[in-house]
Amino acid sequence: MGLITAQGKQPLFSFGVVSDVQYADIPDGRSFLGVPRYYRHSILVLERAVQRWNSLQHLSFAVNFGDIVDGFCPKDQSLDSVKKVASKFEEFNGSVYHMIGNHCLYNLSRETLLPLLKIPSNDGCAYYDFSPIPGYRLVVLDGYDISAIGWPEDHPKSMEAMRILKEKNPNSDKNSPVGLEDLERRFLMFNGGVGKEQLKWLDHALQNATDKKQKVIICCHLPLDPGASSSEALLWNYNEVMDIIHKYKCVKACFGGHEHKGGYSIDSHGVHHRVLEAALECPPYSDAFGYIDVYDDRISLVGTGRMKSTDMVFDS
Ligand SMILES: [Zn+2]
Repeated sequence: MGLITAQGKQPLFSFGVVSDVQYADIPDGRSFLGVPRYYRHSILVLERAVQRWNSLQHLSFAVNFGDIVDGFCPKDQSLDSVKKVASKFEEFNGSVYHMIGNHCLYNLSRETLLPLLKIPSNDGCAYYDFSPIPGYRLVVLDGYDISAIGWPEDHPKSMEAMRILKEKNPNSDKNSPVGLEDLERRFLMFNGGVGKEQLKWLDHALQNATDKKQKVIICCHLPLDPGASSSEALLWNYNEVMDIIHKYKCVKACFGGHEHKGGYSIDSHGVHHRVLEAALECPPYSDAFGYIDVYDDRISLVGTGRMKSTDMVFDS
């Protein structure tokens, strides 16, 4: 409302974004690679994000890119911690669309998590789409559809994931990429894949969007382009997903999380890939969140703190 940019155009719609809050009521720590993590501070980053989004007054919704509570959260506190973070999101004056990440699934089963975060569910899967205005559609993918975490051990999807990991990763610790080369380093237990049903659904959604002349923004916890992410954070079958996306011209940008340092690329088909910087890695008093202004010919991410602003102009 009344937000005019340098180009003199008003966005068609705008929405808030944040990723990898990974809150836990535990002392600060470090990632496997030694990067500091501020488990208690991250919920304050979220609090400031919601305050900022509310003060802007022109955001129609917000998207959380997953991993709201850290895997180190003591298990007897998982439910309360997820509820605590979810209620912070509820202080936003608009709808919040969540997606699940590996850390969410270390804490709670899909059965508990999905209703708690009001994620539309299809047989326990967490993929869905919605259309904020007639000309645009957001497609939210479930990157842990085929995964060794989150499903019961004897579930066909867990078994398929374990078969893939056994075939692709010879290490006894399936979270270790030791000995794996280049892009093969994505075959780690903390990643996952998009299953056949979901691939079919995605194809259908993109065909439908094309028919309706809608532009599409894809959201997935796991990054979909090697140019925007390290190999160790990519979706297992990012290539299959991108093959479907590239069949159509409707997808303009893919947003992700999971890779905490963030990233940006434009792929060979002109699709923008923006991986969002994690709230968890913000030292006290610093921030990482933002909002996205969507136009007919471009998308502008306006970042706060460690989240960099990115202007994504579409191929004409
Ligand atoms: Zn993650």
